[in-house]
Amino acid sequence: MNRPTGTGQTIGRQEPTFEAALLGTSFNAQDPGRRPDLIVQANDVGDVIAAVKRARDEGLKIGICSGGHSWAQNHIRNGGMMLDLSRLNSIAINEADGTAIIGPGCLAGELNEALAKRRLFFPVAHAYTVGMGGFLLQGGFGWNSRTNGLACQNVIGIDVVLADGTLVHANEQENSELLWAARGAGPGFFGVVVRFHLNLHPRPKFVGLKLQVFRIRHLEEIMAWADRVGPDVSPSVEFQLVFNRKATGIFSHGLEVMAPVLTDSWRAARDAVAFIDQSPLRSKASLALPLMPISLNMMMKTGEKTLFLPNTRWTADSMWMNDPIDPLLPALRQIADSQPAAPSHALWLNWNPPASRPDMAFSLEARTYLALYGGLRGKAATPADESWATDHMRALQTHSVGIQLADENLGRRPMPFMAPDNLARLDTLRARFDPEGRFNPYMGRP
Ligand SMILES: Cc1cc2nc3c(=O)[nH]c(=O)nc-3n(C[C@H](O)[C@H](O)[C@H](O)COP(=O)(O)OP(=O)(O)OC[C@H]3O[C@@H](n4cnc5c(N)ncnc54)[C@H](O)[C@@H]3O)c2cc1C
Repeated sequence: MNRPTGTGQTIGRQEPTFEAALLGTSFNAQDPGRRPDLIVQANDVGDVIAAVKRARDEGLKIGICSGGHSWAQNHIRNGGMMLDLSRLNSIAINEADGTAIIGPGCLAGELNEALAKRRLFFPVAHAYTVGMGGFLLQGGFGWNSRTNGLACQNVIGIDVVLADGTLVHANEQENSELLWAARGAGPGFFGVVVRFHLNLHPRPKFVGLKLQVFRIRHLEEIMAWADRVGPDVSPSVEFQLVFNRKATGIFSHGLEVMAPVLTDSWRAARDAVAFIDQSPLRSKASLALPLMPISLNMMMKTGEKTLFLPNTRWTADSMWMNDPIDPLLPALRQIADSQPAAPSHALWLNWNPPASRPDMAFSLEARTYLALYGGLRGKAATPADESWATDHMRALQTHSVGIQLADENLGRRPMPFMAPDNLARLDTLRARFDPEGRFNPYMGRP
């Protein structure tokens, strides 16, 4: 993925710079084989309005790209216009009222750095280079989201260019149905968001990481323990298990028990992660580190140097589940046994959401989350490696209540991602605001 350089252009498919401009928008180094007819690299809101009007006049469908981190490369479709918003990356922070207005092309890490200087906080994505545009629209499982809510719950307004080229503002009072949709519609949103208005939080005073690493032979007992203790883990802890063939510290097939923690004191953090040292399995750890203070910035950058490497061909897939883990253990063992080389990895996340959330498009989540990230580098991958994430998620499908749009794989494996009533309302709004279907629908849906 390339950061935008120079003034944005409109680039037709026959032009020599087209391929690099298109594929350079994508974090995923896979070539999806799809090609739009033209790329419009917007420099400002005026360019976005002009592009949408051109698409309307010429009958073109529109695919939108902010940070290009859609694993499925949702913005790259056959035919029509690809609208690149990466240059709309402004950040304006209002310290007095604890709000910010950002462009969709602003990166998670950039916003986090700007806020850190002012001791303010937003639940940005976990990796530095994720675009805020797509992240906010799909829900946004950000840092401290179990405490501060999903990122989309902290969007208090949007400025959006609709299918007819008009620019409107939406908040809780004005055009509120657009804000409702923007909180969770993700890659099925039916307008171009050119500015997000965000509610900010005081910055947690302590950020740390607790880490234990086990050999993969302990997988079943660790997963069963994690599933058992998960519901009682403090919301300030992002309790997760990651298994990969090059686990931290042991550089071989292992399982990392990771617990980033964001609190207001070292003491509170220590208490919140104490359950890890109290585990009966502790003595089996190959590596057990004490709670370490670490900056969020460092964690965001480290993730992209270890697990989420760029220049990698990725296939991600995911599932939400309420089922207890025990019946899934044989399938998890198969996932581990067949997992391709690092950076491919599996993530189990203790989510345990609150009993209710505000009414918004986002409406599907569950007790735990499982995601597979098949990351291939070089040419040695086998067909089984290529389809590892999709095949194993398909095999586990009956245990799942649906998928997360953050790690969607809808083109290959369409699955529920929203409560049925919310999806029906979203479809009604789409028919009203985008009657001609100007904006691409979800992949896997007509
Ligand atoms: C390395 C990595 C780490 C990640 N970490 C997290 C994480 O911690 N938490 C999490 O929740 N997700 C995470 N994700 C998933 C990520 O949030 C989604 O892929 C999100 O869509 C990325 O936003 P983007 O702007 O970079 O992507 P894009 O690919 O640009 O956008 C995805 C889709 O959203 C729509 N869209 C984007 N911008 C706009 C806009 N301005 N107006 C209208 N529609 C728009 C388009 O349909 C577009 O195809 C991660 C992804 C990667 C690759």
